[in-house]
Amino acid sequence: MDCVFCKIADGKIPSDVIYEDEDVIAFNDLDPQAPIHFLVIPKKHIESIASLEETDLIIVGHIFDVIKKIAKDKGLNDKGYRVISNVGEDGGQTVPHLHFHVLGGRGFKWPPG
Ligand code: 5GP
Ligand code: ZN
Repeated sequence: MDCVFCKIADGKIPSDVIYEDEDVIAFNDLDPQAPIHFLVIPKKHIESIASLEETDLIIVGHIFDVIKKIAKDKGLNDKGYRVISNVGEDGGQTVPHLHFHVLGGRGFKWPPG
């Protein structure tokens, strides 16, 4: 399948991996929008939240546990952080493989300004 995130999950495209297990991989975003900006994805190809099936929900729960642990390790718990998953064309999804953006770090504040 010609999916960039499947290729990252398979190690066919290099990425800055920060966490990996059997079902999930997390890596830094290529074009960071915050001092800390990483993505957490299932290794299984799932297009978006809109195409989740009931059997996928364990993985989604696991993804949130991974987000929580990485965010804590990176010291994001004190000030907080943002988690975003864009869905489809109007949601601004550019890579059609389910992913959760995690944004935070020094100087990051939402909404800005
Ligand atoms: P979306 O717009 O689909 O919610 O987000 C896709 C994200 O994936 C973007 O923030 C983009 O910078 C990131 N991205 C796209 N291709 C690659 C890649 O090959 N490697 C990494 N690390 N990030 C990517
Ligand atoms: Zn994929």
